[in-house]
Amino acid sequence: MKCPFCGDIGDKVVDSRESREGDVIRRRRQCLNDQCKKRFTSYERIEEIPYMVVKKDGTRERFERSKLVAGVLKACEKRPIKPANIDEIADRAEQILNDRPEREITGRELGAHVMSELKKLDQVAYVRFASVYRDFRDVDDFAHEVRALKGHKE
Ligand SMILES: [Zn+2]
Repeated sequence: MKCPFCGDIGDKVVDSRESREGDVIRRRRQCLNDQCKKRFTSYERIEEIPYMVVKKDGTRERFERSKLVAGVLKACEKRPIKPANIDEIADRAEQILNDRPEREITGRELGAHVMSELKKLDQVAYVRFASVYRDFRDVDDFAHEVRALKGHKE
């Protein structure tokens, strides 16, 4: 499986776990590239019913974990956040979807989930993510949010 960090193909499975319902097998993998050696997660589903994200205009697109992770990674650039933390954010997002019989989530809810997780982890990453995913009406809104964060810290 292609390593999401260095793009190498070649990994070993370090842990496999079946979900409670037995429909998803989660595998922790480790990249075999000596310079990388990072761990990532793959999912194997017996039944390929995708999770969906409902967009603002009501259209739906397939939920893609890699897309979520890419967005979070971008917000976390040069911040002291472990890849494992990002993995956990994605895990919990999938858990939310997994618990829903309708198997879908609105883009807004998904964004709110990531924002609340980042808020606990790192304020800078939170503001970065929020600036992209929340609909800040104008620059004043954004400045207000930043001030609110600063006030929160003191
Ligand atoms: Zn790698």
